Amino acid sequence: MSLRWIILGCLITLGLTSHAQLSAADKQPPNILFIFSDDLAYQAISAYGDSRKLLETPHMDRLAREGMRFDRCLVGNSICGPSRATILTGKYSHMNGFYNNSNSRFDSSQVTFPKLLQAAGYSTAIMGKWHLVSDPVGFDEWHILPGQGIYYNPPMIHKGEKVKHTGYTTDVITDLSIDWLKKRDKTKPFMLMSQHKAPHREWSPAIRHLGWDKDRQHTEPETLFDDFAGRSRAVVEHDMGIDKTFTELDAKLKPAPGLTPEERQQWDAYYEPRNAAYRQAKLSGKELVRWRYNRYMHDYLGCVKAVDESVGRLLEYLESEGIADNTIVVMTSDQGFYLGEHGWFDKRWIFEESLRTPLLVRWPGSVKAGSSSSELVSLVDFAETFLDVAGQPIPAEMQGRSLVPVLKGETPADWRKSFYYHYYEYPSPHHVRPHYGVVTDRYKLVHYYNTDVDEWELMDRQKDPLETKSFYNDPAYTDTVRELKTELERLRRELKDTEPAPRKAYGNQPF
Ligand code: CA
Repeated sequence: MSLRWIILGCLITLGLTSHAQLSAADKQPPNILFIFSDDLAYQAISAYGDSRKLLETPHMDRLAREGMRFDRCLVGNSICGPSRATILTGKYSHMNGFYNNSNSRFDSSQVTFPKLLQAAGYSTAIMGKWHLVSDPVGFDEWHILPGQGIYYNPPMIHKGEKVKHTGYTTDVITDLSIDWLKKRDKTKPFMLMSQHKAPHREWSPAIRHLGWDKDRQHTEPETLFDDFAGRSRAVVEHDMGIDKTFTELDAKLKPAPGLTPEERQQWDAYYEPRNAAYRQAKLSGKELVRWRYNRYMHDYLGCVKAVDESVGRLLEYLESEGIADNTIVVMTSDQGFYLGEHGWFDKRWIFEESLRTPLLVRWPGSVKAGSSSSELVSLVDFAETFLDVAGQPIPAEMQGRSLVPVLKGETPADWRKSFYYHYYEYPSPHHVRPHYGVVTDRYKLVHYYNTDVDEWELMDRQKDPLETKSFYNDPAYTDTVRELKTELERLRRELKDTEPAPRKAYGNQPF
């Protein structure tokens, strides 16, 4: 426990102070509630103010209103498993060994923040999506989806035992989270990771949310029909376009797995008349993309509605228990996601929508309500932040930095001005070539390497906020490119990513 807590405990024992004199925050280190979503785009959260106004998310907005909204929380490798490994270890993929979703397995002998918090006297639990292949370690209780899991009536694994659940997976995970909170050892602080599958592909909404948008035509992103003129081959040859990569499951032309016969009836009652009209229309070209975009938004945003309701239920529980004031609530995702920008779904790229993940933090008494931060922060900072919140020492091997001073509105003068990115998984799925790069508040310099393509791109968010062109070969940017290359090499040395990535980093298919 923190030194402060131990000293206070001694003072109480000696009769030198009393519980009544202690503020709620002094009684116990803060509880940590980590609400994690999978593939949740910041564009889908109304607190982020996306111009398309895709969805209202009152409960996540409440976290922003009562806490801090981070506008540039970045991920180091924009894909599910690697982000989770980074959060647990506070290290980049090349240091924790989890590079991709194809053939990586989490080495659970590593130091992780849940292990350290458990050893420090926290009750620890994880409920929901884990996705790291090896079993969770460092948790008093765990109840996880196997692999990606399914959206309806999910089989789960409770401490090694298979359990079949009834209901919509987002609700099931929230029920398990609240049940554990109710039964926890209340003499200890807790750290709970409540981790949703939603809104991961194939983004299947709760039955109660089918038709939520009343067949609205969703506002299109400006770059829905990006032609990638002047872009690298690495970008042009992607395989994540709504136009060509969308499957029948993505489009709900086939039903999702796991539905009960009654749910299937309700599913068909919503989708089938619309699918029949779609089949009859025989759409092609832009009209086909538009139809798919609207189907995608109905389904994806419908999933987010259930996640938002789950946030509301957890916040309500904290209040009913009287522990909201001594609980830090962190709402985030493992990466961002494309909601049609550049014609894409999915993630992976160093570009803004996949690089940036939402991050909302409520911590009464420490974080100013309604504040925001545009500092470059990252998932790699979370482990150190949670240890710092708990008053625990931070292992030197961790590669991030505690966000506690940023949360308190006291960002250190030497806070990072540049951020390192490295993506590996190739060629499948989605055919995004390995790349690494450096990100600043304005620029991104990216190097595609180690395949049949060896190219660089430079994005300038000030000149080109939608990131539709590369300025790498523009003579006006010669100095910028040189400076960014120097910074990129400095970051690679500092983070010990100076060697070529090992072959296993790319996945299990030859290319
Ligand atoms: Ca993900």
